[in-house]
Order: sequence, then C-alpha cells, then structure tokens
Amino acid sequence: MNIYDLYINEEEYADLNAEAAVRHLSEAVRINTTSYMDTSKIDYAAFDLLHEKIQTWYPQIMKHAEYRRIDHSILIRIQGSDPSLRPALFMAHQDVVPVVKGTEEDWIHDPFSGDVAGGYIWGRGTLDIKEMLIGELESLEYLLANGKQFRRTLYLAFGQDEEVIGSGAIAIARYLKEHGVELEYVLDEGGRIESGQAYGADIAVGSIGMYEKGYADLKLTAESFGGHSSNPFHGTSLGTLAKAITAIVDHPLENVLSDSIRETLHILAPYIKEGPLKEAVRDIDANEQQIIEHYLSHPELNSQIHTTIAPTMISGGSDAGNVMPQHMEAVINFRLAPQNTDAGLLEHCRKLAGKNAQAEFIVANEASRQSRFDTPAFHALQDVLLHYFKDIVFVPSVNTTATDARSYEGICDCCMRFEPFLEDQEIRAMGVHGTNERISVRAYIQGIRVLIRMMDETC
Ligand SMILES: [Zn+2]
Repeated sequence: MNIYDLYINEEEYADLNAEAAVRHLSEAVRINTTSYMDTSKIDYAAFDLLHEKIQTWYPQIMKHAEYRRIDHSILIRIQGSDPSLRPALFMAHQDVVPVVKGTEEDWIHDPFSGDVAGGYIWGRGTLDIKEMLIGELESLEYLLANGKQFRRTLYLAFGQDEEVIGSGAIAIARYLKEHGVELEYVLDEGGRIESGQAYGADIAVGSIGMYEKGYADLKLTAESFGGHSSNPFHGTSLGTLAKAITAIVDHPLENVLSDSIRETLHILAPYIKEGPLKEAVRDIDANEQQIIEHYLSHPELNSQIHTTIAPTMISGGSDAGNVMPQHMEAVINFRLAPQNTDAGLLEHCRKLAGKNAQAEFIVANEASRQSRFDTPAFHALQDVLLHYFKDIVFVPSVNTTATDARSYEGICDCCMRFEPFLEDQEIRAMGVHGTNERISVRAYIQGIRVLIRMMDETC
C-alpha cells in the first residue's frame, strides 16, 4: 500500500501558506523539548522559547484568543458565538522522547536540525507529535485570517509531559472542569492505518482510537537459601519464579469484543471478501467465539480484545552453575483491556503465582473509559477523513498505547485519538520514538487540510 495513492483533494486550501507551515514545524523541532522522568534534566527554557515562538508566529490567534499558560502547558480558547454548543478541544503535546544514546550517528539529519530535505521535514517530534501541535495552530490561524466566525467555542490544549507522566493534560482538564466546561469532543494523537488483510477485507482500515488500554508492571519476588546446588531439596527462587511466570502466561485473561470492535466489524462487513470473518460478521453475537478465535490468531488483531501479558525483566540469578540463587525478581508487563480491573488482575496473578512467589504492582492503570462513537463529532471526523483519503474505511477502535486524551474523559464522552498525518508505514514504524523520525511535506500539509476542515465544519 502506497499511502500517497490514497490522498485526494490536495488542491484545496490553495491559499494556505505551506511554506510558513513547514518553516514553523522545522523551527519547533529545533527547540529541544525532551521530557524525562527526572524533571531536573528537563530544559524548561526550551519550553519558554517554544511559547515565545508560538506567540510571534500566530498573530490572528493572539489577537482573537484567550491564551493561558498552566505551568508549562498551554490552553488556547476561541470564544464561539453560540453558548448552547459544547466546545471542541484539539490536543497535542509539546514534549518529545529522548534520542537513544548511541544512535545519534544513525540519523541522516541531526535529530534537532529540523532540516527540510528531499521532501521531508526531519527530526525528533515530526511524527510524535509536533506536526499536530503546529498543524493545529496553522489551521486555526488560517481560519481566523480568512474571517471565520466561530459558533462553537474551540480550545487548543498542549500538554508539557505526555511522554512521561501527563501532568500537563491533567492540570488543563482540572482547570476546565473547575470552570464548568463540558466538551463536545476531543481530538488527540493516536490511531493507525493498516491494510484490511487481517480481516480479509479488500480496503485499508483507518482505526480511530475511542479508548485506550491500561498499563501495569507486576513485580514477582522469590527467595531461597542459596547454597550448593547438589541438594536443592526446597527448590530455588529461580524455579519458583519460572513456575509463577509460566502459570500466569499460560492463563490468559478473558477475551471481549468491545462495542468499538463490534462496530468495526459491522462497518467492514461489506468489504470482507474472504476468510472466516466473511460469514461470521453477518451475526456477530451468534458467531462471537469464532470471531474471537480469528482475532487471537492474528498478530495485528489479538491484543485488541484482551489484556496482554509480557514477561519483560528478570534479575538476581546466581553467578555459577553449581550455586543456587537467593533473592530474585521478575517483571511482567500487562496492557489492560477494559474488562479487567487492576484489583482483579492482581488477585488473578497472586493465585497463579503460588505461595512462594510474592506479586505486587509497581504501577497499575486501568483502561480508559470507552468513548461514544454514535456522535456527530465521530461522524464528522469520518466524513472529513473520507474527503481527503480514498479507499480507506474509518472505524472506531482501541488504542493499544497511552495518550493524554484519557485525562479529559471526565468532561467529555467523545475522546477521539487520530492523527490525520498519514505517513508511509515503514517510516512511521522506524521514526516514532526511533531513528530518522521525519514527515513528508505532503503528509504534513494534507493533515493540516483535515484539521482546517474539521475545525471549520464542526465549529
Ligand atoms: Zn505522542
């Protein structure tokens, strides 16, 4: 699938100043807003500089909007004329992830160069997610410069630390809640495009994340006396951990087809031309078990319907083959599906781990609330995307990674996760949190068209 073959209506908004939009993204990439768990490593002056730039680049926004800084996060508000309409909120985050030590030399262009070369804008944040941050600002500026009168109040919200703890988004959501704001919809990063192959469909699938899975790290601990391995009468801590891990991995949690997944199958049904789903999706309830089996057998689909279990760390083994280990620890990472609570998961694991292994969470967050997709906002997003991309169906789906959007679920029942910057799958897979992150000018500008139209049509 060549992603650019799916682009349509690229001639629209011909008066958009694409050159300035590219220059602004390039300059924003040059400002190193890397976030770290250890906040003493964060260069807050870089955030200040980014704020300064935003205020100079977007005179129309600064003239018409209320611009608020909450710590190092930003909330921009354009007042709509109709107070009966609930506001819309467009999100992005300002921070980026660090460049992995030792990979600096692998970058064709320096990660903070913001170079524009070969049709691409290069650098950390061009796909995650400064293109959306700058793209939203460009879109709003464009509409205001063209005399757009907003009926619905529109917010732009840019958190400062999505990649670490998301405190910026939490603070903005708290501020809005305290001011009695309830939102019509939220649009944040996330989502994905994939070929419909796994479904047996002859059309590409654009998944809009209507909820996101949770995250938990479970620590397993086991002790044994150590000593000479010739007399392992009580077993060893390594044996205990191995048994506990195996028991947990061998007892997968229940599979559930969420409402979003059912809707995906419903929308895809006419395009499914082959395979076991072709008949099964005609009656999802009656064929639930068969559909679940299909999901479980596909690497692209299986993590959508259940809590995944991935043993990731082990430490404390003995240094010699004839010496028994003493204290040992292992970590299992879970991505929680909505049907599992963290308390329920812990109880499940403790039972399986047995009495000789201790199990406790280091961190545990449940899945987000499931957003509604029977809303005007979801249908508007589908329509706008279809206006700019052909041969794709857009479906409500699950995000298997975390975003800031969940912070708004207390004041919004329609949090949508979809970045409209459709880039080549390989470039995306390698670039996001990886090496040679870059976005084509074409993908960037087409994404801006989506944002302009979405803002214009819904606000
Ligand atoms: Zn991101």
